[in-house]
Amino acid sequence: MKNKRWSWEWRNQDLFQKTQKRLTMQYSGLLLLFLLVFIVVVYTLLHIVILRDQHRELESLVRQETRIISDYLTESARNELRGIGSQELVLAGVDQFFYYVTDAEGRFVMGSEKMPHMQKKLFGLVAGWMPEHNQIREETIKVTFDERRIGGLDIEETRKSQTIRLLIDGNPIFYNKQFVGMIYIGKDISFAYKLFEWLLIVLVSLAVLFSGVAVYMSLVMSKKAMEPISAAFNRQKEFVGDASHELRTPLSVMMSSIDAMEMTDGMEEDLFAQKLLQNMKSEVKRMTGLVSDLLVLARADSGSAERAHEQLDITVEAQNVIDSLAPYAQANQIVLHLEAPSSLTVMGDKARLKQLMYILLDNAIKYSPDGGPVWLRIETSGRDWTMTVKDEGIGIDPADQERIFDRFYRSDKSRTRTLGGHGLGLSIARWIAGIHSGFITVESEPGKGSTFFVKIPVQP
Ligand code: ADP
Repeated sequence: MKNKRWSWEWRNQDLFQKTQKRLTMQYSGLLLLFLLVFIVVVYTLLHIVILRDQHRELESLVRQETRIISDYLTESARNELRGIGSQELVLAGVDQFFYYVTDAEGRFVMGSEKMPHMQKKLFGLVAGWMPEHNQIREETIKVTFDERRIGGLDIEETRKSQTIRLLIDGNPIFYNKQFVGMIYIGKDISFAYKLFEWLLIVLVSLAVLFSGVAVYMSLVMSKKAMEPISAAFNRQKEFVGDASHELRTPLSVMMSSIDAMEMTDGMEEDLFAQKLLQNMKSEVKRMTGLVSDLLVLARADSGSAERAHEQLDITVEAQNVIDSLAPYAQANQIVLHLEAPSSLTVMGDKARLKQLMYILLDNAIKYSPDGGPVWLRIETSGRDWTMTVKDEGIGIDPADQERIFDRFYRSDKSRTRTLGGHGLGLSIARWIAGIHSGFITVESEPGKGSTFFVKIPVQP
């Protein structure tokens, strides 16, 4: 067959478990997303609030110190900053790293810093800078310093370096509305960044902790969500099983009643009654087949189907199936061919494997309405054995090949109904291959025929 479209592998996975896993993943994904958004929002908010607070503090410090200098100029009636000494004015705020005062030309007038050896570098940062309204600069500088440690009688000196984050603000100084100079203040905000680092560590640790909680909660929630669904499904399965079981008895009573009526005196002459009985008989047969297929699937679903695990010669069983189907095949102008090794011992459930062969051969005969050959081939590769059923019948549309193993799915409903199908045979075939740890696939071309492959381990 050229038109290999689709292959299906039976995996005995519980649909409910898969759905629950998917639900768990969706719930925990959602919870983790919320957690992530929460962390980002909290971190950003704290970042903004803390930095804004530092900005505000620095602004008020600069204003306050500008006022001190202006007041000093007014009190001492000086119209320029040149010549005033730092000792006359004490300008120091909390976390103030440096302050510099320059004259109207931008020359250094006075100032102080926490690390005097850094003065050149620090003054270089602000010299000539005229901040625009409300403009505050943020700078990162690397400072080096000597750390002294006293160990016994020795003094140990080590050179250390440190990164310092600075917020720098500047303000013009006026005397009698005349610009006389600038004041610049640098505030050390390294502690705020240390705080941000810690905050991030704490938030990430919390996130890791809560993601575990989120996954656990999702698992519990998805389990709870699945409970009523799986209970309803189980009730449904039980109902189908019980209903099919209950239907079997009236159907067999009807069948024996029809048989008895056929044998009643005078029935041979009444052709109309004979036709009616014939119709009734074929419908009851169809219904009996449907009910027994439903029962097989209901038991398969509930896991209560009995399974044998025995040694069998599959060639012998294949020959038996071919022999019993020969009259039916002949009546439909079908020639059955069996290609199999003289003997092949495998492990499995004899009755189920025969049922699988019946289903595939019955379909091959049924869907070859113009007659033709049908092959049943048994082969082995050592580890696995394969069963191939090939016909030259009507074939299956590529779009339907994916679905013919679904329950009650028939590719051409009106046509297959007249041929007697009800769409459960291949579902049972798939289940039988599955319980033998095997799988079933199909290759087909409409109008040319179909080939079904079943592959099963010799020792399932
Ligand atoms: P049904 O009782 O209708 O035969 P199955 O489950 O055995 O139910 O098959 C499902 C559908 O797959 C059939 O209705 C038919 O359309 C298609 N099909 C199965 N076997 C063949 C085949 N050998 N050739 C063509 N179509 C097939």
